[in-house]
Amino acid sequence: MKSQSHSERPHRHHYDAEMLSVEDARERILSYFNVLTSEKKPLVEALGQVLAEDIVATFDIPPLTNSAMDGYALISQDTFGASKENPVELQVTGVIPAGGLPDHAVESGTAIRIMTGAPLPPGADSVIPFEDTDELQRRKSGLSDHSISIHMESQPYENIRQAGEDVRSGNRVLSKGDLLRAGEIGLIASLGHSEARVIKRPVVAIVSTGDELIEPGEDKEPGKIYNSNAFSIAAMVSRYGGIPKIMGIARDTVESLEAVLHQAMDSDLVVTSAGVSKGDYDVVKDVLFSRGQIALWSVRMRPAKPLAFGILDRKDGGSVPHLGLPGNPVSAMVAFEQFGRYALRLMMGKPDVPKPSIYAVMDDPIKNHDGRRVYARVKVYRDGEGNYRAKTTGNQSSGVLSSMALANGLAICPDDIGIIDIGETAKVELLDSTEDIF
Ligand code: AMP
Ligand code: MG
Repeated sequence: MKSQSHSERPHRHHYDAEMLSVEDARERILSYFNVLTSEKKPLVEALGQVLAEDIVATFDIPPLTNSAMDGYALISQDTFGASKENPVELQVTGVIPAGGLPDHAVESGTAIRIMTGAPLPPGADSVIPFEDTDELQRRKSGLSDHSISIHMESQPYENIRQAGEDVRSGNRVLSKGDLLRAGEIGLIASLGHSEARVIKRPVVAIVSTGDELIEPGEDKEPGKIYNSNAFSIAAMVSRYGGIPKIMGIARDTVESLEAVLHQAMDSDLVVTSAGVSKGDYDVVKDVLFSRGQIALWSVRMRPAKPLAFGILDRKDGGSVPHLGLPGNPVSAMVAFEQFGRYALRLMMGKPDVPKPSIYAVMDDPIKNHDGRRVYARVKVYRDGEGNYRAKTTGNQSSGVLSSMALANGLAICPDDIGIIDIGETAKVELLDSTEDIF
């Protein structure tokens, strides 16, 4: 947490009279997060993490000038005038396999058989590929491999990879802050490292609250519903690079929530769901008020208007930020997309990149009844002309998870617009894209 942040902390036991915009709420939330510390990770496990160190090359890549083809290393001047009709015959003095080293030089009138990647022997200034020689015919007809006929002129430096043409010793090849994708990981491996120092992944403790909840896998019970929030939230945490820790269900009592929260404090972020609306059994706010700092906000968005954010004090003097999502399954997901995702990115040292979005022509209207920004669940597709279109995926009630599962985007109707009608264009934030690798 930021040390100077005490005065900026959310007010204790305070409902904001005004509604916050999504951006204002996000900005307030993000001001309580810092980039996490670093760790050394095996390369493959570091995919999607951010480098915490510069990577400087200590040798050239390729380390030696080498052949880019399977062929013959020779002196290009020897091949001047060569053609299929008028081949030049050279004496073959040896072979250099991949991984081998030359043990003698190429002299005028000679060539050395060479494999791709093998170091160029001294004397040679180019490589002619097998295709431009009589290599194949010789092999088939069992002719001597002590000589080779060259069918083409070879130019100096042809089919040769110069030492250091990829990476020069002493150069910084990657910088602190760079994201590790497949290419970066390969590059680090090519420098001989099996590990990299990267910003840690945030551990996110997920706490569900409610007397009505039972766990998936348990027998159905009348009046009870399955705890789906923990699973959709855990999936989003993983999706955005964090490590989810499902803490189970806290009942609507102070003791129960205290007990579960106690287990959750060893994390970089505690996410709770439910208990932030103004209901009778909402103990979340009571407990959290007594545990640290908390603010309850109304955010000008639909779904997911009620939101809690606070700081939980730890016994050791530290603290953990707490994001209190609404209970309704779609509200919880949409709020996590708008706030949780950004907090995870910040902790991981990733640049503050908004959700990728496109503009799509609506097949259905999106109505805005009360001046809140609407995030409508839509399926984006391309029509015959290749233009983006979006249709809503059914019942938009905040408890209807099936329309979330059918959606690949959230189409936005701004707070100050009453309707985006059929045929009008809406901005759509895409749920499924590869942006979180970037
Ligand atoms: P609450 O904020 O406690 O009033 O909950 C709002 C709605 O979300 C209620 O219909 C709850 O049953 C539902 N809900 C709360 N927690 C979960 C959960 N973990 N999984 C699925 N639905 C939930
Ligand atoms: Mg509840």
